[in-house]
Amino acid sequence: MALYVIKKHQICIQVIWHLPMDRSRTFKKQTTPMSKVLIIGAGGVGRVTTYKCAQHPEVFSQILLASRTVSKCEEIACDAKAATGHPHIETAAVDAENVPQLVALIRSFQPALVIHVALPYQDLTIMDACLETGVHYLDTANYEPKDEAKFEYSWQWAYQDRFRQKGITAILGCGFDPGVTSIFTARAAKHHFDEIHYLDIVDCNAGDHGHPFATNFNPEINIREITQKGRYYENGAWIETEPHEISQMISYPEIGPKKSYLIYHEELESLVKNYPSIKRARFWMTFGEEYLTHLRVIQNIGMASIEPVHYQGMDIVPLNFLKAVLPDPGGLGQNYSGQTSIGCRIRGIKDGQDRSYYIWNNCRHEAAFQETAAQGVSYTTGVPAMTGAMMLLTGAWGGAGVFNVEEFTPAPFLEKLGPHGLSWQEAFDIDLEL
Ligand code: NDP
Repeated sequence: MALYVIKKHQICIQVIWHLPMDRSRTFKKQTTPMSKVLIIGAGGVGRVTTYKCAQHPEVFSQILLASRTVSKCEEIACDAKAATGHPHIETAAVDAENVPQLVALIRSFQPALVIHVALPYQDLTIMDACLETGVHYLDTANYEPKDEAKFEYSWQWAYQDRFRQKGITAILGCGFDPGVTSIFTARAAKHHFDEIHYLDIVDCNAGDHGHPFATNFNPEINIREITQKGRYYENGAWIETEPHEISQMISYPEIGPKKSYLIYHEELESLVKNYPSIKRARFWMTFGEEYLTHLRVIQNIGMASIEPVHYQGMDIVPLNFLKAVLPDPGGLGQNYSGQTSIGCRIRGIKDGQDRSYYIWNNCRHEAAFQETAAQGVSYTTGVPAMTGAMMLLTGAWGGAGVFNVEEFTPAPFLEKLGPHGLSWQEAFDIDLEL
């Protein structure tokens, strides 16, 4: 069905996929079936991923963007077509928690790969649908159950045998962190160290979006993540801290010193497993005073709770409701100034000598917005998701099973990352401050 959407002085002709009503529709087999990609999730990250895939029609010759709210997909598809000239970006509505719906959509479109940039709650249902249809899978955040603010890889690692038997690939955590930080660590381990001993991942957002309080990605997932207890790995054990209990000033390139807080982050779990020489692994993130004050108030008045409360005849989850009134992270880009700086600071041994190493990327919010109409945090997630997808579809990465990104060879990915918009730098034998 064709829909005409008038937007910003342009007319977009959109092909919208209707499912499940239209299940019987069959589609001609493509001459390059490996280049069809289904992107699920039409938020800030979905926008960037769609734009970046559309910039590479030689790999992604047909794109289907599907999400719960199809109007958001249509807007992104229109913008991405206008910006890139890609002729084949289609849209569909899908509930990614409904496996039969996902299976029907995948069977109709027949993508080579599903890029999942909706929410972590949908990881397992989308993996189930990929298994049923024999299609590769890629995501940017590990599974967490809705009713428990907890994330870990065990649920997704449990799919290992089924993906192996089916002969398909699942790529886990291919955003920036997790994602590029894990691939930076893989580069360090492969090229610069015989043994990595100390790993500190440092994540700074020195941007200003002009709102008193907003989150840079999905508010619900973000607030669940940062209000959790801190956790780091030392000498074979996980050490728990109170939320934001440990902090220190860290200097970031082109930004300067920023107060950085130790929090738990998912890539620590797979990195200490895949690099057993690591003695200590920590993750640091910057937060402004204003942000932390708002967060404390939100928590103190119970708005960060995921326990349903009964209100006017219905059950509502306070954090779900809060998400509805906070600024949409996908819409923060317009007046966002400043930049992000995310990287890995590593100490260890090379040829019997101590070595320190820092590898990082800085990304300007304005540049991200100019290119994709999204802010830098969406950009730094969507670019690696597209690059990982390209690795798989061009055969640079592959294999049957479930993989964290550090398990693949880092060089081809890092060669593309700069040209795709996220250039990186490295420095050796410097003071790492940590
Ligand atoms: P948004 O909230 O902006 O977008 C999420 C999208 O998912 C929305 O379009 C939403 O639809 C859609 N969605 C939610 N539930 C369903 C469902 N049941 N079925 C279909 N679609 C659904 O989030 P972001 O774009 O900011 O983040 C996307 C993902 O990226 C998150 O998982 C986040 O954790 C991850 N991320 C990873 C990072 C990394 O570096 N690795 C960094 C930042 C984010 P609707 O519009 O209808 O609500």
